[in-house]
Amino acid sequence: MHTPLIDLRDIRKAYGGHDTPLVEVLRGIDMRIHAGEFVAIVGASGSGKSTLMNILGCLDRPTSGEYRFAGENVAHLSSDELAWLRREAFGFVFQGYHLIPSASAQENVEMPAIYAGTPAAERHARASALLERLGLATRTGNRPHQLSGGQQQRVSIARALMNGGHIILADEPTGALDSHSGAEVMRLLDELASQGHVVILITHDREVAARAKRIIEIRDGLIISDSAADQPPTPVNRGALQAVDLRKRLSEGSEANGAWKGELLDAVQAAWRVMWINRFRTALTLLGIVIGVASVVVMLAVGEGSKRQVMAQMGAFGSNIIYLSGLSPNPRTPAGIVSLNDVAALKALPQVNMIMPVNGAEAGVRYGNVDHTSYVGGNDTHFPAIFNWPVVQGSYFTQADEDRAAAVAVIGKKVRDKLLKGIADPIGQYILIENVPFQVVGVLAEKGASSGEQDADDRIAVPYSAASIRLFGTQNPEYVVIAAADARKVKEAEAAIDQVMLRMHNGKRDYELTNNAAMIQAEARTQNTLSLMLGSIAAISLLVGGIGVMNIMLMTVRERTREIGIRMATGARQRDILRQFLTEAVMLSVVGGLTGIALALLVGGALVLAEVAVAFSLPAVLGAFSCALITGVVFGFMPARKAARLDPVTALTSE
Ligand code: ADP
Ligand code: MG
Repeated sequence: MHTPLIDLRDIRKAYGGHDTPLVEVLRGIDMRIHAGEFVAIVGASGSGKSTLMNILGCLDRPTSGEYRFAGENVAHLSSDELAWLRREAFGFVFQGYHLIPSASAQENVEMPAIYAGTPAAERHARASALLERLGLATRTGNRPHQLSGGQQQRVSIARALMNGGHIILADEPTGALDSHSGAEVMRLLDELASQGHVVILITHDREVAARAKRIIEIRDGLIISDSAADQPPTPVNRGALQAVDLRKRLSEGSEANGAWKGELLDAVQAAWRVMWINRFRTALTLLGIVIGVASVVVMLAVGEGSKRQVMAQMGAFGSNIIYLSGLSPNPRTPAGIVSLNDVAALKALPQVNMIMPVNGAEAGVRYGNVDHTSYVGGNDTHFPAIFNWPVVQGSYFTQADEDRAAAVAVIGKKVRDKLLKGIADPIGQYILIENVPFQVVGVLAEKGASSGEQDADDRIAVPYSAASIRLFGTQNPEYVVIAAADARKVKEAEAAIDQVMLRMHNGKRDYELTNNAAMIQAEARTQNTLSLMLGSIAAISLLVGGIGVMNIMLMTVRERTREIGIRMATGARQRDILRQFLTEAVMLSVVGGLTGIALALLVGGALVLAEVAVAFSLPAVLGAFSCALITGVVFGFMPARKAARLDPVTALTSE
């Protein structure tokens, strides 16, 4: 005696019970179906046929009773094993066709094979062959809404056959069709039955049922007649599942070897399709992520740009430079005076490499009838070395000029451009500084550095002696520039200078020491704080973007609950559904992130044109993009899991 393929014992199904009235839909069904049978289950509407079929197809579990499939108790199978059974053993044909609306006929037919891990080429070929066999060769690219009812039902039959379809479960397959299409579908089922498929046909129409070899009639959840109750089972046909190998194949099948690649590709394609179909809504929702990513990238680029600009300007004079100048210790006393004696004392310090007093002030300058105001500093010949500031034309004044207080001047780029505009060769020209004629001997290279109001290039350097005697009438420096011997030990040098100065000034700290390094550091700190602030504002908009993704995903899951049910009925496991919806969330964020980066580059380009300092950094771009991606995964996970945990029948019958 053969093990029946399907063996139901005292199957009962009840709905409700807690707050709703308990409805017993199936009240003890006993039924055995063998390989190769063509069975029709007939009964009035509401008699429990669909409920029975969902249990037969492992979409639903009975409240009580035992269901053995090929000898295996279905109640003991895991959800993955049940998915395997739905995928490999059953093929569903529903009254409402249940095709995925966003996918083409071909893609709908291929779906069960994707979950089975069939290689793409084989899958395409088989789906095409099936569609051709069912007379749909010219309709493979059409989406369900572009097909007639009869055509849709044939697509769903092709889908049922995709993985073999040993057992075709057809629930009122002709119910929604006109008589001609209905007859055609019945002819197909007949044909399948004669080829060895088990066909279980559910109908309320006795005429349709008459096509089957065996008719089981149910009423109010009970079998009231079975035309083949006492007949011996028909011989086993090819294509039928055997009890012996089911266990083995179950354990193999639920591993889903190498199927992930095809599934991932399918998930990406499906995700792209859904995004494209809803492109307007998607674009609106993605705006959050796009703006978030773009603002993170742009704000960090602007922050970094201005930081680099400031640093470059401050570092232009060298990070080993210390400035010394007089200061009033409190508001009522006059500022202390740094004298040339102090300079001489400091010169002896081993921590001091170069020291240069500067006697200077803003002064009126004139050439011909052009007037200009510029900083005029008397200093010695260390100037080019200490400031790392060469001349580009002519030469720097010499020690001889210094010794005889020569009226010679080295002018900055700005002075050359403003005062001596249109003069081909400024060298040798005479300019008036505070009405004293000075001969131009050199032009300084452009520094391009400015801090506040001061432009480094708007400067004239003259010998210290000339400045003291001819211009300012004082020997004392306005400030002293000191180059520390070791740029890494500026602090130590400063301490040593402070000690000497304190001694020279009898313990009175009426002077001030500042250095570029400290200024740069302080500036860098403010800039970093600024970047951080801008960055967090941007991060918040990214968060808002993430919530947008979650919103659209929740909406998607809700709208496509039926699709999830269809996918489960064709054999998708929970993790397939999870993967699909996570893929969609990730795709959304990837598209949003890339668009955001593109937008950021555009805005950055516009800013560069507007002469704003921007510095795009790869870490910032990658960081913003990964944030978008992580946002997508994190916010997409909840909706995706919600989808994966749906009950197949609930999902399938949802509206
Ligand atoms: P048929 O397919 O024979 O028309 P069904 O199996 O669809 O019948 O339904 C049988 C009975 O079970 C109906 O009375 C229906 O109202 C009830 N029923 C079906 N599904 C549910 C459910 N989820 N909750 C409560 N009652 C249900
Ligand atoms: Mg029904």
